[in-house]
Amino acid sequence: MESIDFDGLLLDLDGCVYTGRTAVPGAAEALTGLAEAGIPVVFLTNNASRSADEVAEHISSFGVDARPDQVLTSAIVAARELALTLSAGSPVLVVGSDALADQVEAEGMRVVDTASDDPAAVVQGFSPDLGWLQIADACRAVRSGARWWATNLDRTFPTEHGELPGNGAFVRVIADTTGATPIVTGKPSQTMMDAGVRALGADRPLMVGDRLETDIAGARAAGFPSGLVLTGVHREADALAAPLEHRPDYLLDDLTALLPGGSPRRLP
Ligand SMILES: [Mg+2]
Repeated sequence: MESIDFDGLLLDLDGCVYTGRTAVPGAAEALTGLAEAGIPVVFLTNNASRSADEVAEHISSFGVDARPDQVLTSAIVAARELALTLSAGSPVLVVGSDALADQVEAEGMRVVDTASDDPAAVVQGFSPDLGWLQIADACRAVRSGARWWATNLDRTFPTEHGELPGNGAFVRVIADTTGATPIVTGKPSQTMMDAGVRALGADRPLMVGDRLETDIAGARAAGFPSGLVLTGVHREADALAAPLEHRPDYLLDDLTALLPGGSPRRLP
């Protein structure tokens, strides 16, 4: 039996640690075991709907010690990237959650509500409260020349009720309406993977996630190993049928496969 050689873990959340509000079986045990073994963990999530504080609190509710500074969301990374590109105080139309708007403000930009405020940029992330008016405003702003950023392109995410529409589904609406293409900051982008590796500070990082075209593709492109955990969106058959650039190094039945004595399966 082969164990995985890693000294730090980048771990996706939806479908790996929780599904909706429900903990994924084995996740709490695995996180506790990794903490006891002194392996640092950074949670790397494309879900931009909640703040790092809220996410850490959710994970902690499963009896696991999780700090906000271990949580890197695509909202945090998107706001940092906007700040590198736009001048301070630039008006930004946020099509997404309060958590995303708070990040954009924290990075020194001015959040505006409508296309009539002449935004320099539109940033779009998942929010369960998103409606037609906000999408329409984003279309107007993008057509007027605002730069368009998307936190991620995940078409779905797993919930207790099966897969439901993710940010990518709504990004497609704006793309179809305007003909524009967004800049994407979440996984599999190099920006997000670099931010994760920096936060982790490990020499031999391992990325584990449940989605091939984001979690696994991001690790592949960044040049470190990855494991597909079979508790979320993608199954073993998906991994075996995936193109090389989406192919994980390991399959994990659940996260306890990462613990000493666990049984990750190496893919050929
Ligand atoms: Mg996931």
